[in-house]
Amino acid sequence: MVTFFTVINCMDGIVQLPVIEYIKNKFDVLYVDKITDPGPNLILSEQSDTLFVESIFNRIYISVYKHFSVGISIAAHHDCAGNPSNDTEQKAQLVKAVKVLKDKYPEEPVYALWLDENFKVHEVA
Ligand SMILES: [Zn+2]
Repeated sequence: MVTFFTVINCMDGIVQLPVIEYIKNKFDVLYVDKITDPGPNLILSEQSDTLFVESIFNRIYISVYKHFSVGISIAAHHDCAGNPSNDTEQKAQLVKAVKVLKDKYPEEPVYALWLDENFKVHEVA
């Protein structure tokens, strides 16, 4: 069975492979749909740019309802060029973004991932 997982990640090239590999290992899925923007945890937690937020939701829709993705993950990373917040603030934004995504997609499990200064992936509760 073909299985997809949805990841909303920063556009930064450094963080792509660590997140894909983490998701494939942890959830045993074949494919990872990627929705990338600069600092998406900031975009989704503040929701001040509604066009940006809608664009993210439109892409999640395809992954969830056309690919039947089995879960959604939002990822953020240390020293993000697209998000000037410090690590503590970024993790708080991740938690808020998870709530936004859970409200929108209540049937999907949603996970927050944090990449530290060594680009090691950690789950944020
Ligand atoms: Zn970034």
